Amino acid sequence: MSEYVSSYYAYSADISQPFPTLEGELEADVCVMGGGFTGLSSALHLAKAGFKVVLLEASRIGFGASGRNGGQIVNSYSRDVDTIGSKYGKAVGDAAAAMMFEGGEIIRNLITEHQIDCDYVPGGAFVALNDKQMHELTEQAKRWQRHGNNKLTLLDKQALKTIVNSDRYVGGLSDGMSGHIQPLKLCLGEARIIQSMGGQVFEQSPVTKIEKGQTVTVHTEKGRVKAKFLVVGANAYLTHVLPELTKRNMPCGTQIVTTEVLGEEHCRELLPTNYCVEDCNYLLDYYRTTADHRLLYGGGVVYGARDPADIEALIRPKLEKTFPQLKGVKIEFTWTGNFLLTLSRLPEFGRLDNNIYYMQGYSGHGVTCTHLAGKVVAEAIRGQAERFDVFAKLPHLPLLGGRVLQIPFTALGASYYTLRDKLGI
Ligand SMILES: Cc1cc2nc3c(=O)[nH]c(=O)nc-3n(C[C@H](O)[C@H](O)[C@H](O)COP(=O)(O)OP(=O)(O)OC[C@H]3O[C@@H](n4cnc5c(N)ncnc54)[C@H](O)[C@@H]3O)c2cc1C
Repeated sequence: MSEYVSSYYAYSADISQPFPTLEGELEADVCVMGGGFTGLSSALHLAKAGFKVVLLEASRIGFGASGRNGGQIVNSYSRDVDTIGSKYGKAVGDAAAAMMFEGGEIIRNLITEHQIDCDYVPGGAFVALNDKQMHELTEQAKRWQRHGNNKLTLLDKQALKTIVNSDRYVGGLSDGMSGHIQPLKLCLGEARIIQSMGGQVFEQSPVTKIEKGQTVTVHTEKGRVKAKFLVVGANAYLTHVLPELTKRNMPCGTQIVTTEVLGEEHCRELLPTNYCVEDCNYLLDYYRTTADHRLLYGGGVVYGARDPADIEALIRPKLEKTFPQLKGVKIEFTWTGNFLLTLSRLPEFGRLDNNIYYMQGYSGHGVTCTHLAGKVVAEAIRGQAERFDVFAKLPHLPLLGGRVLQIPFTALGASYYTLRDKLGI
């Protein structure tokens, strides 16, 4: 039995009612593999459209990145839409831009419509550590406004202090269409909605073998599902069952710590508007406060998804650099989680054999894009594939040298960008 890592999220969510394990054989229209946001959003949109859906999660719902992340509802993609347009053509850039705020909207609508208790707080900010990053934020604001986000405000050093009480930054950009959630609570809420719509959700049911064909047979340790379609949302946690999906990208680890309870007053001294914050470095820091008034602070990347021995030693210096007023604060939770990096930093959507769909590789920003992915794959399975294909047609290059050689290559690349961030060039 595989259980949740001991994160602040597992501590603060109600994880006492597990979903059943699949035993025996089931038939479905669509089998969904993976109980993170990609799988959950897919199953939810498919069940809503009237499909008979079975979701199989290897461990617990939200076991992977979706139940461990910073909880930041960051809009758009890990590559900006103008770059997508200039690389792959204006029509592709425009089509991607038309969807760049939809993932956040899906989340907000789900929370409101189904009253999901997931500590949702609206508002987030990007912060700049140097003038170059501030210039990039100014350009981002223009770009995002052009594509329909009218809740953006550029902030100089002084104005930013009303959002982040830290001397580290030269300015920032606040986004009223951003916000934060307790992501594991959102995962569990979405799984219950799937059930309420007639979908079946199974935990402790790792897919062990996939038999392709007109009907896909998906084997687990104790059962199997025969389905017309399979949707794969296993992202960085995908194992040997589909080797064709693991060779083009790399799992990376990022780490989070949560402090002891600081109290509401102290939290509002640090982050007066209760926004979530991420900086603009290549290897970025991201943080926010929690519903029970702790600081949750993440940062750092370990290429190849190896677990660092001492997470607190890795993150504490970053936290104390941002908030020296927290020097010596007690850290109560530390954990690591894996996200999937692609060479292009763009998500990988596609098909294998026409009836197996996959969506993965959000490259660090996936809370919103996973929700969009689930919506567009449901459209594709219903026969309207235009929006799914905007992403499915993006070219994806394999990692040169495979995962083993790519770890030092990517780390070298990251050192280069980190140096540029430090020098502000
Ligand atoms: C620490 C951390 C912080 C992050 N912070 C943010 C943030 O603040 N904002 C943001 O936008 N993005 C953030 N991200 C990225 C974001 O969390 C991910 O992009 C997103 O959650 C990916 O969702 P997913 O459903 O595709 O994958 P996952 O959530 O990883 O889910 C994959 C699931 O598939 C299951 N699985 C694997 N193999 C099998 C199998 N054989 N059979 C059945 N099930 C299987 C796994 O157990 C897992 O539960 C962060 C990521 C990490 C790791």
